[in-house]
Amino acid sequence: MIDPHTHVADILARGGVSNERALYDWLFNVKKPTIYAMTPDDHAVASALFAAEALRAGITTFVEFPEVFLMWDDESEAILEAKLNEYDSAGLRNIYAQAFRDNDDVPSNLSDFVGHVTRKEPAVEHVPMDASLSGTDAALERIGDVYDRYHDPSPDSRQQVWIAPENVVTATDDGLSAASEFAERRETMTTTHASETVHEEHGELSHVEYLDAVDYLGKRAVLAHCVHVDERDIRLCAATDTKVVHNPLTNLMLGSGVAPVPTMTNYEVTVGLGTDNPSGNDTINPLSDMQYAALIHRADRRDAGAVTAEKALEMATIDGARTIGRADELGSIEAGKRADLTLVGLDYPHLTPSQNIASTLAFQTHGHEIDTVICEGEVVMDNGVVPDIDERYPDLLAESQKRADEVLSRAGLDSMTEREWTSRSDK
Ligand SMILES: [Zn+2]
Repeated sequence: MIDPHTHVADILARGGVSNERALYDWLFNVKKPTIYAMTPDDHAVASALFAAEALRAGITTFVEFPEVFLMWDDESEAILEAKLNEYDSAGLRNIYAQAFRDNDDVPSNLSDFVGHVTRKEPAVEHVPMDASLSGTDAALERIGDVYDRYHDPSPDSRQQVWIAPENVVTATDDGLSAASEFAERRETMTTTHASETVHEEHGELSHVEYLDAVDYLGKRAVLAHCVHVDERDIRLCAATDTKVVHNPLTNLMLGSGVAPVPTMTNYEVTVGLGTDNPSGNDTINPLSDMQYAALIHRADRRDAGAVTAEKALEMATIDGARTIGRADELGSIEAGKRADLTLVGLDYPHLTPSQNIASTLAFQTHGHEIDTVICEGEVVMDNGVVPDIDERYPDLLAESQKRADEVLSRAGLDSMTEREWTSRSDK
């Protein structure tokens, strides 16, 4: 299975810290402060925890969208190396989508807005607005350097690099166009966040129309979310072969809405299934996400045929491979493709009887039935055990909990973990 959109480091901020917050409240008061407080060692443990969970969930390939401020100083370099070492050692395929923010017009508008959002949490160590800002040329140079050092274009590659403008608001026109050119020139991909909440869509052009106007769309572009897009936006994605990642769990958890996926697939837009933020999902579990992806659109459209079990399985596998531009190598079991396989045990009461395997996978599994994962012909998860991580982190769970507690404390989020029983939200 392929996870074309996730934010690995968020994993230390899950477990009930961000309950009932909408996108920006969660983003600026929980997610960014947590990651800002993490050391390279914290990132290593977070990456190991992510890899252990992702492999147990049957993921062999994932696209990481790192925090945008992890780019500039010596510590950022140590964090990058720590992350990539963990993925390499665990044996799963990683695509590192190096993020950037180059729009210095933004702070005048955005800092007012962020000020309003962050005022409610005065104890939190908020991330300074300029921590992630860079000029367009400097960002391209830095990402070119990361690409040169870590992008392996060979078919058996387990490490590739994309370029990722943070989102439509915080990147300039030039930055978005340059990201597209970067991907084309280096035969890689680019990804950004688009149209996640209704609040973002307030300009005269929709996000997708704007991205079309600055020449960002195309076969090398992957848009995460596209929740508040209309049929014209979807036609633009179809006409330009722009890919979309559907992240149903975070869209549900943050109350962002339901992406019009059935309309996208009717127009033959490629849609992959992402786990997005571990602190807004709160799991890394594509089998479970398949069930949500198959079911929420049926309720939303009042159409029991809106998304089939087979389409849900395709979104987690071959459509995920199409999304990342690697359908020739990954995403289905065929002669000549890379040997990436996930074996699912079927001898469970809840999986019996089974008459249609796609339906059983989409609607009967819980996610723990996966017993073996093979990546590039190598067994990387065996009977629930990820040997590399078990060996290097014998106390992974205790260490992750301890580091999460310490990071949340450093970030000033203690009060969010000392929650009273809350039957009705007051936020
Ligand atoms: Zn995202």
